[in-house]
Amino acid sequence: MNLCEHESKSLLASAGVTVPRGKLAATASEASCHAGELGPKVAVKAQIATGGRGRAGGVEVVCGRAAAYAAAQRILGMELKGHRVREVLVEEAVEVQAEFYAAFMLDRSAKAVTAMFSAQGGMAIEDVVRAHPEALARLTVPPLLGWQDFMARRLWASLVLDRSLLGPITDVLARLWQVYDTWDATLVEVNPLVIDGRGELIALDAKVTIDDGAFSARPERYGFVRGHREEDAEELARSKGLTYLRLEGTVGIMGNGAGLVMSTLDAVAAAGGAPANFLDLGGGATAERIGAALEAVTSNQAVGSVLCNVFGGITRCDEVARGLAHAVPALGVRLPVIVRLEGTNASQGRRLLEDAALPNVEVIASMRDAASRAVAICGMGLLETRG
Ligand code: GDP
Ligand code: MN
Repeated sequence: MNLCEHESKSLLASAGVTVPRGKLAATASEASCHAGELGPKVAVKAQIATGGRGRAGGVEVVCGRAAAYAAAQRILGMELKGHRVREVLVEEAVEVQAEFYAAFMLDRSAKAVTAMFSAQGGMAIEDVVRAHPEALARLTVPPLLGWQDFMARRLWASLVLDRSLLGPITDVLARLWQVYDTWDATLVEVNPLVIDGRGELIALDAKVTIDDGAFSARPERYGFVRGHREEDAEELARSKGLTYLRLEGTVGIMGNGAGLVMSTLDAVAAAGGAPANFLDLGGGATAERIGAALEAVTSNQAVGSVLCNVFGGITRCDEVARGLAHAVPALGVRLPVIVRLEGTNASQGRRLLEDAALPNVEVIASMRDAASRAVAICGMGLLETRG
C-alpha cells in the first residue's frame, strides 16, 4: 500500500521530522485560499500515490493566490502516471540550500532493511546511482540491532559530508526509522530532504509504503490512508478497457470473457467462497492490461487471494503469464495468486510462471481445483512454504 505525500508526511511529522506547513485542496478556490494563508510563495503538488510527479508536471512552485489558483486548476483532474488527481497539497515554499536523499527500504533478498543516504537528492535516485554509484551510501540494518545512531555516522563518513551535518542527519534518520518501525513500512523515502535558508533539515517530499499484510491485518490503524485508492484503481482498469465490478466477497477474480468470468464466480461460490469482484480482461489481454487488472483487484482491501482464470483463444496464455510474472513483483502483490491457464499457448504460459518461481503464485490445471485452492488459501497470507 503506497501512501501519498500528505499521508506520508503526517507520519513523518508525528515522529518529529520537520515538514513544510501545508493544506489539502480539492478545488482551485480552496487552493488559492490556502495560498493566501501559507504564501505568498507556495508549492502546489498533485496527491497521487506515486513518485516522479515533478517531472510529469504535477508539481508547481508559484507566487500569490491567483497563480496558486491557476496551478491547482491545471493539476486537478489531470491524469498523471495512470492516476486521476483529485487533491493537491498546497505548501509554504521552502528556500532550498541543498537537497539530500534519505531512505529505509526493505531488501527482500537480504532479508533486512537497507538504509540509504545521498547528498544528491532531488532527482530520481535510480538516475543518481546509474551515473555515480558512489554517491549513494548504503548500509544493511542488522535485524537484531535495529537502527542505531552510530550507523548514521557511517553513512555520513562514507559520503565525506560537512561536520555540521552529522548531528541533524543522525537525528532525522532516527526519526525516519521510528516511522518505518512503528507503521510496519517497507519503504520510507525522503527525496528531497533539504537544508533551508536557516540551515534546518526539512522533508520536502515523502513516500511511505505500508506492508500489505500489516495493512489488511489491522486496517483500523491506518484509517487515515483510506482515500481514493480504490476509485483510482477502478478508473485505471476502465481506462485500459477492462470491465470491473466490485462485489462483497474476498476472492479476487480475473478472467477473459464475460462467460468464463461468470462461471469462475460460480466455481468460487461452489467451493464455499465469495467473489470480491467481476473482472473481464477481454480479448487479447496484453501484459500491461494484466498489470492494471491485478492492481484493480488487489486495491480492494477485503481481497485475501486472487484467482486468474484464462481460456486462451485470441488471448495467448504466455502473454498473460508474462504479464503476471512482471506485475506481481512490480506491484508488490504478496497475496496468494492462483492461476489456471488453458487454450492457446497454455503450456508455454505455465512453464513461464513456473520458471518465474514467485513464492505467492501457484499454477493449477483445472478450474475447479484452482477455485477450491483460491478459497482455501484466502486470507492465509503468503504461500511462502511452497517449493
Ligand atoms: P516527485 O517528483 O513526485 O518526487 O515530487 P517532489 O515533491 O520531490 O517535487 C519535485 C521537485 O519540486 C523537488 O525536487 C523540488 O526541487 C521541487 N519543490 C517542491 N517543493 C518545493 C518548494 O517548496 N520549494 C522549492 N524551491 N522547490 C520545491
Ligand atoms: Mn520527490
